[in-house]
Order: sequence, then structure tokens, then C-alpha cells
Amino acid sequence: MKALQYVEVGRPPELREVPIPEPGPGEVRVKVTAAGACHSDSFVMGLSAEQFAQFGYPLPMTLGHEGVGVVDKRGEGVDAVQEGDAVAIYGPQGCGRCYECAQGKENYCPRAAELGITPPGLGSDGSMAEYVLVRNQRHLTPLGDLDPVRNVALTDAGLTPYHAIKTSLPKLVPGTVAVVIGAGGLGHVAIQILREITPATVIALDVSEDKLALARDVGAHHAFASDEEAAGKIRDAVGGAKVAAVFDFVAIQPTVDLGLSLLGTESDLVLVGVGATKADIGMLARPYDSTIRSPYWGSRSELIEVLELARAGRVSVEVETFSLDEAPEAYRRLHEGTLRGRAVVVP
Ligand code: NAD
Ligand code: ZN
Ligand code: ZN
Repeated sequence: MKALQYVEVGRPPELREVPIPEPGPGEVRVKVTAAGACHSDSFVMGLSAEQFAQFGYPLPMTLGHEGVGVVDKRGEGVDAVQEGDAVAIYGPQGCGRCYECAQGKENYCPRAAELGITPPGLGSDGSMAEYVLVRNQRHLTPLGDLDPVRNVALTDAGLTPYHAIKTSLPKLVPGTVAVVIGAGGLGHVAIQILREITPATVIALDVSEDKLALARDVGAHHAFASDEEAAGKIRDAVGGAKVAAVFDFVAIQPTVDLGLSLLGTESDLVLVGVGATKADIGMLARPYDSTIRSPYWGSRSELIEVLELARAGRVSVEVETFSLDEAPEAYRRLHEGTLRGRAVVVP
């Protein structure tokens, strides 16, 4: 079968011919119907050999940690899914037995690393291929009649902001403001989730005019350039209303500094983007009881919730589609920052 693989550190990903995987006991083979390209893949492929080695990912590795498909072959003992079922793959897989996993929070499984359990596409072979092997049937969430191409990104670009926002929900009361920094794959879904599940005024910041236009199209009340004037523009737009949460989908030094400067008392700065930064977080450096969080992906039950939002027509992902042969181009466009929404590869 064809698979898009990261083969060697520093080289662009390549389309390669690899064997179709055979499901072992408890495993499920899924025929991929769509796979999303995430900026985290670009981040991983941008690491130096030394940095990459710290992650311990074996190469070559098939990319793709957003995947949906149809159950194709079941390993011994698999009984909860049937061949032909349309499924979404839950990526941040854990041991399934610890306290966090018992709550469905496999994204925070403390044992996954020691057991060598890694998400498809981030340590084991992912969904940018004709078939993908899924470790356990509990990682398959029913997709039902949701369109695979339009909804595959909900497994990460939907689930991650949903989890980030849900944790801040008690603070996003009427009269408050939520700021989204970076209206890309994750950010444009975050804007919609904020509009749907909170009463907050939603302000988007980005460095690209096209992304600001997308932010407005998907429901941001205001959208401003992400620069030194942004804080002033936000104040002008909302008066004295409190910024109760900043969701930073970039999290590089300038955006973290901006986010900190926007916080009110008891507000949340939520760092979702994977950028290296330092911040002055001492008692007197920020408002009383403000919180800085760094959420990772989401829980199994939250994936079900976010798919329900889509089923109700309340969240939809902007997608640009690519074939597997065109997949390297999808990553080039992601790197360039010229995609509208998410790049989705259709094998
Ligand atoms: P993306 O490339 O689709 O979107 C990033 C957006 O940020 C783009 O619209 C870009 O124009 C904008 N941007 C760049 N610099 C900016 C700046 N200085 N100010 C404001 N906006 C700026 O990326 P994505 O796939 O949505 O991923 C976003 C980030 O989230 C990445 O860092 C990714 O690695 C990370 N991520 C984290 C998790 C997690 O679990 N914490 C999960 C998925 C992705
Ligand atoms: Zn991702
Ligand atoms: Zn666990």
C-alpha cells in the first residue's frame, strides 16, 4: 500500500510502498477514508536530529495523527466493532487501566511512555496511508454518517480546542471575552466551539489577513492583526470587559507575552501551541489567581462530544483536500501558512 512516511530527519516526507499491516490479537485494521495534516507534524519534522532523538520515534514512520476510516479486518478477540463500521481514531492512546485512563483521559496516561504506547503518526505508523492499524477497539469512536473528509480533523483540531475550552468553561460567563491567537487548523475550530458552548465575546488574532477573514467567517466577533497594537484594539472593542481566557495556538514568545498582558484576575492563559518560550509568572508579574495551562489533546468522551457538536451542525471544519500523492504538498502549504482551515489527505 502507499504511505506518506517521514524517513530521515531533515528530509521532507516521502510517499512509499509499504506492506499492508496485519492486525494481531486485539488490534483492528482500518481502511483510511481521510487523514488530517497538523502543525505538530511540521514541528516534529522541523526538529534537529538531537531534538528528534529525545522523542524516540522510530523511522521510517507513517505520518497522520488525525484519521477516520472503515473497519477492514479485526484481530482475535475484537468484538465491539464490525467490518464496515465507520470510525474515528482516538489518537492520544494510554494503557487503558490506570486512574486517568479509567476516566477516558488517555491523553494524560502516566504509563503510556514506559509501556511504549504512542499515538498513530506520532511514534507509531499513522493514517496517511491506505490502511492503519489501531491498537485497541476502544480507540475507535463511531463516526456514523458524518462525512469523513469534512470531519477527520475533529479528532485533533476539534478535540484539542474542545478540551482546552471545556476546562475554562466556568470562567467564560456572560460579559467576558475569550481571545484566540492563531486562526489556523485548531484556531478556526476553537472560535466555533467558543461561540457554541460559551456566551463570551470571541476575539481572534492572526498574522495573516486570510486567516483573519476565516476567523470572521466562522464567527469571531472581532479579528485583529497579532501585533503590538492588538491589546489596545481589544480594549477599544470590549471596553472594560474581562478577558477570562486566552487560547494561544501559537505560543511563541510574542504571543505568550501578549496573552499574559491581556489576562484579568482569575483568568486562564491556555498554551496549546508548541512554541518554546519563557515567561515571567511570579506572584507580582500577573493578575491574582490567574492560571497558565498547557493542555494536551483530549479525552475519549470529549471526542464523542465534539463529534456530536458536528452532527448537530454546530461546528464545521474548513478543509482543502489532497491525494496521497499530493500529501507532501499539503505539508508544504501548512508550513507556508497558506491553507484555509485544515489540509485533509484522501487516500
Ligand atoms: P496552523 O498552522 O494550521 O495554524 C497556526 C495559525 O497561527 C496560522 O493561522 C498562522 O497564521 C497563525 N500564526 C502564526 N504566527 C502567529 C502569531 N505570531 N500571532 C498570531 N497568529 C499566528 O497550525 P495548527 O495545526 O492549528 O496547530 C497550532 C499549534 O497547536 C501548533 O503549534 C501545533 O503543534 C499545536 N498543537 C498542539 C496540540 C496540543 O495537544 N497541545 C494539539 C495539536 C496541535
Ligand atoms: Zn495535532
Ligand atoms: Zn493509563
